[in-house]
Parts: sequence; structure tokens; C-alpha cells
Amino acid sequence: MNEAVAKLSFWGVRGSTPTVDPGTWRYGGNTPCLELLTPDGIQIILDCGTGLRMLGSRWAAPHGEKAPETHILVTHYHWDHIQGIPFFAPLYDEKNHFHFYSFRSKYLGRDSLKQVFETQMALPYFPVNMSSMNAQRKFQEVDGGDSFHVGKNKVTARWLNHPQGCLGFRIETTAGIVVYATDNEPGDAKLEKNLRELATGADVFINDAQFTPEQLTTTKKGWGHSSWKEGVKMAREAGAATLALFHHDPDSADRAVDTILRQARDEFDSVFAASEGMVITLGAAGDRVQAHMPGTRTALRREAQFRAHICGVTEGGKPFEEDTVVCDLSLQGALISLQHLPRLQSELQVTMETPGPDGLQTMRLRGYVVRIDAGTEKGQSAVGVVFTD
Ligand SMILES: [Zn+2]
Ligand SMILES: [Zn+2]
Repeated sequence: MNEAVAKLSFWGVRGSTPTVDPGTWRYGGNTPCLELLTPDGIQIILDCGTGLRMLGSRWAAPHGEKAPETHILVTHYHWDHIQGIPFFAPLYDEKNHFHFYSFRSKYLGRDSLKQVFETQMALPYFPVNMSSMNAQRKFQEVDGGDSFHVGKNKVTARWLNHPQGCLGFRIETTAGIVVYATDNEPGDAKLEKNLRELATGADVFINDAQFTPEQLTTTKKGWGHSSWKEGVKMAREAGAATLALFHHDPDSADRAVDTILRQARDEFDSVFAASEGMVITLGAAGDRVQAHMPGTRTALRREAQFRAHICGVTEGGKPFEEDTVVCDLSLQGALISLQHLPRLQSELQVTMETPGPDGLQTMRLRGYVVRIDAGTEKGQSAVGVVFTD
């Protein structure tokens, strides 16, 4: 049963440059990198942005002892799509085999991607040279219009409208069709036709949604990117089932991406904003395309029993209200009013008590003092802590 399923993971979704701003943590700050595990057991990596480092750090887990056969498709040579290569740990292990696919750039000539590897690691840009990369690497040139097979999966490449060129990829697996069309700008009829052909009947259509429709016609015209509105239009024309908005602008904080997603959902049924850590499963029983965010336990959490009233919208788009109990909280920090003056960058033990349905409950936390201001009351300080433990 499981063999029929393809799994698409998003390791990096940010366009142009990585972001570490706290305001972008929810969608994530790593630049483009996707991983597709096909029903016939092949690993296809799409682009080598900084998300590739994360994929590399989890490498051992999915593969165990067996050296995997990995195929890496690179759409183009802009920094945000190649930056992760020198930091991809599996490239330094001779057990691993990689097949790289990319186009011959007119600026680089033969073996373009190989040259990118060497140049990125040349002195004085990187501390060690290429000879320490021991994994086996094969490079294959792909041109717009080419089709080839990777295992049982058919891959088709087409040129997209982007400065210095960019390839879009359509990957047909037995579980469904994934189309990866990052970095493209509408407005060139011939290249738009390419995009439409790629996206035809896609189960998941990943499209550049960096700019707002307004920016696209004014300040950001000619930068080589698209908007959610163009993505919706193309998804509709091409009969794509699900649209994933991708390549978020580094200046778009999470709330801005939320707004973009909401606008797209008002006009198209099945839309997601690509998010670091998101996994889309194709070909599972029930819905053909299922998206989920695997639970991460990185945030500090505490069990709790807070009564809560919830208002929201169902999967089918209907509003609902419900009374329930919040039973697990993740905690970032607190502002505490104190008569004492704690030392800046010292630890505080914080024990909180709150009445729950089962009586008084206690929550113990360790706070790290990050700021101290004058309190609103005389003789009091407002102490900001970040919870660490
Ligand atoms: Zn890009
Ligand atoms: Zn680009």
C-alpha cells in the first residue's frame, strides 16, 4: 500500500536570500530546496538552497545503512538555489552517489554546474577545497524541452521567464504529478506557454509567489518573479489540483504571507503557502494530495489545562465555534513585574499557578532575563524573560 505513495518535503521556501528575522520563522527562512521520494524509492532533490543543509543533517535517518541513489535537479545558478551545496554534509561521504542535472549557462559554458561547485569553493570564498568532497558525483546537462526518466519517473524540463534563464520541472510519478516552477515572471507568451504545458493536470503545482500583484506591475517588474494571482490563473488554466505558493520574499514577514495565502484561497480551492517542514503526500487513499506539518518538539512546551473557546473555519470553509481545553502550550517568554532587580542575562526560576478544571495546576519554568525596564508602578521593574527549560 505504502509503495503507491510519493512524499514531497519542503526544506527551504524563501526566495533571494535566507532570513533569520523572528518575524519569518513560521514559513521559514531557508532558500529553495525540496525533496521528492517517489513510489519506486528514488530520492529527487529540487534545488540546493540553504534548506539543503537541513536535509543533509537529517540524512542518516531515512536512509540507514544503504547508500541512496539521489538525483538533484538544479533550476538555475542564482545564489539562493546553489548556496547550500558546500554545506551539504552527504557530499563529503564517499558512500554517497549523486546525479546532478542542470543546464549549460551561456555565461559558464560546458559543465556549468561543475564550475559552480568549484567556484563556490575556490579561495578565498571557502575554507576547504573540492578535494574534500568525496561523494561520487555525475553531472548531466539538461536543456529546455528535454524529457528523461529517473527510475520510473518521467522528468520534463522547460524554460521559464527569468533573468539568465531558469528551468521548470514536471515530475510524473505513479502516485501523481509534481510541477516545480520557481523563479518565473509572467509576460512572455512563449515561456508562459511552457509553464502552462508543465503545469497541465498537475497534482501539486509549486509556483513563484514572491511579489504582490501590485509590486509585479510596478516596482518589481523585470525582477523575474511572479505573484499568487498569476499562480491561481495558471493553476486554473492548466487544470492543476493544488497550488503551492513558493519563493516567499525575504521582506514578507509571516503575516504578509498569511495575507497572500488568504487572498489566493478566496480565488482557488486548494492552495498552500509552502512552509519549511511541510510534507505533501500524493497518492494516499482518500485525498489524492494531503499536506501536513509533522509535529516538531523544538519549542519549549508544558502540559496545561486552560479552558478555551475556539472560533475558526473548517476544511470545507464553514465557520465553527467550540468549547474545549488547551492541554499543551508552547512557551516563548513572559514579562514579569518584580520589586527586586534581577541581573541582566541571569536565570530566574518561575513557578506559575493557574486554576484548571482538575484543581490548581503548577507550571515550572526557567527564565533567562533578556531585558529590564522601569515598571508601570513605583518601585517595580518590568523584567522580560525568555523561557529556556
Ligand atoms: Zn530564486
Ligand atoms: Zn533566480
